[in-house]
Amino acid sequence: MTTSSESFAPRRSEPIFGRLAIIGIGLIGSSIAHAAKELNLAGRIVLSDRDEAVRARARELGLGHEIAETAFDAVRDADHIILCVPVGACGAVAVEIAPALKPGAILSDVGSVKNAVVEAVMPHLPEGVHFVPAHPVAGTENSGPDAGFPSLFLNRWCILTPPEGTDATAIARTRQFWEGMGALVEIMTAQHHDLVLAITSHLPHLIAYNIVGTAEDLAAVTQSEVIKFSAGGFRDFTRIAASDPTMWRDVFLHNKEAVLEMLGRFSEDLSVLTRAIRFGDGETLHKHFTRTRAIRRGIVALGQEKPETEKLRKS
Ligand code: NAP
Repeated sequence: MTTSSESFAPRRSEPIFGRLAIIGIGLIGSSIAHAAKELNLAGRIVLSDRDEAVRARARELGLGHEIAETAFDAVRDADHIILCVPVGACGAVAVEIAPALKPGAILSDVGSVKNAVVEAVMPHLPEGVHFVPAHPVAGTENSGPDAGFPSLFLNRWCILTPPEGTDATAIARTRQFWEGMGALVEIMTAQHHDLVLAITSHLPHLIAYNIVGTAEDLAAVTQSEVIKFSAGGFRDFTRIAASDPTMWRDVFLHNKEAVLEMLGRFSEDLSVLTRAIRFGDGETLHKHFTRTRAIRRGIVALGQEKPETEKLRKS
């Protein structure tokens, strides 16, 4: 079903969906539009954004085949619809588009939190429309229609969290779509997703937002030397802390319980390290750092990240 080409992933000879609608033209929406067009994953790709300037920019960039004025217009007759808006906006968009969804259509989203999205969207689904929530674990700190690029999902995980009883064909087609963009697909419950992502993504972002804020306060005292002499670790935090404020506000508001649980554990573990530093307990520190080093090596071994030395050679 695929043909070889110069694309970053195989281009399909036959699209998976006839008409694909993407609601929200930010980093994720525009990346899906680029990839789906380049790889022929949908016969016709229609995008929509609530902001007129963003719609105009999407036309200039040649995203998809058509830019619709409203989400309602975009989803009419669509076989696959992907909500690419902040988690807190998914419910309202579902209300807006529900009357235009055709029976048999597969609705999806890309929200970084899953349980809250399922609860906000499911009550508005018309009869015969399937809902297969998705979360591509891929991104950058950039936002907006210019930020997208087609290979964003290549070799990255995309987690599907279909509610119990979801049509198996709808799940299989959604999987096929993400695999078509080069993603690795895993299926789990929305609750499990939210717990796992709380520790692997949400808490690290909270820590980055916090430490950069603390350093910024300090910079006033040290006449910006904190920024000037920032070392690798801090610079990585600043990149993460530059992530979209609306998106991350919504993540913390909608994954409250799991994040608070992980934050509690984090604080307990931090107390152990604090105590070790205070009492000069080098053995505890060394043991802990040895254990965490093994995690990093595991991530590199799984191909999810390149060793720093290799990155430096390539830059
Ligand atoms: P983005 O670049 O900031 O784009 C967000 C889009 O949502 C924009 O089109 C924005 O419209 C629209 N939007 C914002 N508030 C809205 C509202 N109340 N009603 C309707 N539309 C609204 O964000 P993104 O990074 O693509 O994130 C989109 C989704 O992907 C989020 O749910 C996020 O959790 C998820 N996600 C993000 C990443 C990442 O690293 N960035 C990774 C995986 C998943 P305007 O043009 O009017 O601003």
